Amino acid sequence: GLYHAKEDRYDLMQYRRCGKSGILLPLLSLGLWHNFGDHDDFDNAREILQTAFNNGITHFDLANNYGPPYGSAETNFGKIFQQDFKNYRDELIISTKAGWDMWPGPYGNFGSRKYLIASLDQSLKRMGLDYVDIFYHHRPDPNTPLEETMGALDHIVRQGKALYVGISQYNAEDTAKAAKILKELGTPLLIHQPRYNLMDRWVENGLLDTIEETGVGSIAFSPLEQGILTSKYLHGIPEGSRASRQGSYLDRTQITNEVVQQIKELNEIAISRDQSLAQMAVAWLLKDSRVTSVLVGVSKVSQLKDNLDALKIIEFSTEELNKIDSILNY
Ligand code: NDP
Repeated sequence: GLYHAKEDRYDLMQYRRCGKSGILLPLLSLGLWHNFGDHDDFDNAREILQTAFNNGITHFDLANNYGPPYGSAETNFGKIFQQDFKNYRDELIISTKAGWDMWPGPYGNFGSRKYLIASLDQSLKRMGLDYVDIFYHHRPDPNTPLEETMGALDHIVRQGKALYVGISQYNAEDTAKAAKILKELGTPLLIHQPRYNLMDRWVENGLLDTIEETGVGSIAFSPLEQGILTSKYLHGIPEGSRASRQGSYLDRTQITNEVVQQIKELNEIAISRDQSLAQMAVAWLLKDSRVTSVLVGVSKVSQLKDNLDALKIIEFSTEELNKIDSILNY
């Protein structure tokens, strides 16, 4: 049937300013890395997107190679966009990326101007969009001059194919350099997308300071450590979960006895806060105002609803924070 977004969606969500830009992002955003490919259930994908927008999630994050197969998440998103979201285009922040392997040969990977410009053109075709809101360089490329990669991002904005640009997984030093080059070109760096969660805190070692100093926002990916920071793996590896699936990026050998012990102890703290472990993991990221948004993936609508409820309690006592740190050896 015809989709009508819930009228009260903007009362249900809080928004944070992305660095020193004009853009506000929802505290929770939705990523399409998994669960939107050709092997996934299209109706489920559609229901997840509708539920997200109904709850004020205005930001959907994609990349050229999300699927599998590569490109299929963008194609499926494009179909759902045409059916459901066409009339809401100006209420949405849609992002895509290039930087990882996408097509064969020397021009379908890394950080050249050749690759980035061609890839975004392909992404726009797959999604049926005239422009994306944010275009990212997906990962640092040590063999391409930063001037070339940032020059390509600036060019893409001038072409009108992206409104803003971002970078992902760049370290603090390269982030500062990239921001400086972009500023000189006249296209400010909007956002950094780093991996950040309770168990992976590399961004605290300089990157968050750099983005604050340069006025750049941030959006944390894999905030639930791909599902480890939820109640899913407390008692084994359930059928259908990401760790159970062949060829997924979460290997079952990562769910060690030590990890299970840690998530059991974290789960006790979550329970004492009247939260699920997933909710506590999301809230823990949002306690730092330098984190503009938390970018979750979900395979089910029920998971999305669980994660949305994290926003009810994002404060932590010092005692809770200390307990969490000691469980995780920080
Ligand atoms: P998460 O850490 O949020 O893991 C998502 C998975 O956790 C879900 O698919 C689901 O797994 C499980 N899950 C989520 N919520 C719950 C819940 N409430 N209860 C139980 N299980 C839950 O993030 P992702 O690793 O998926 O990354 C999120 C997004 O970040 C991506 O979609 C992408 O947009 C972006 N990203 C960017 C990268 C980059 O290089 N810039 C790299 C990786 C991701 P299950 O299938 O087991 O149900």
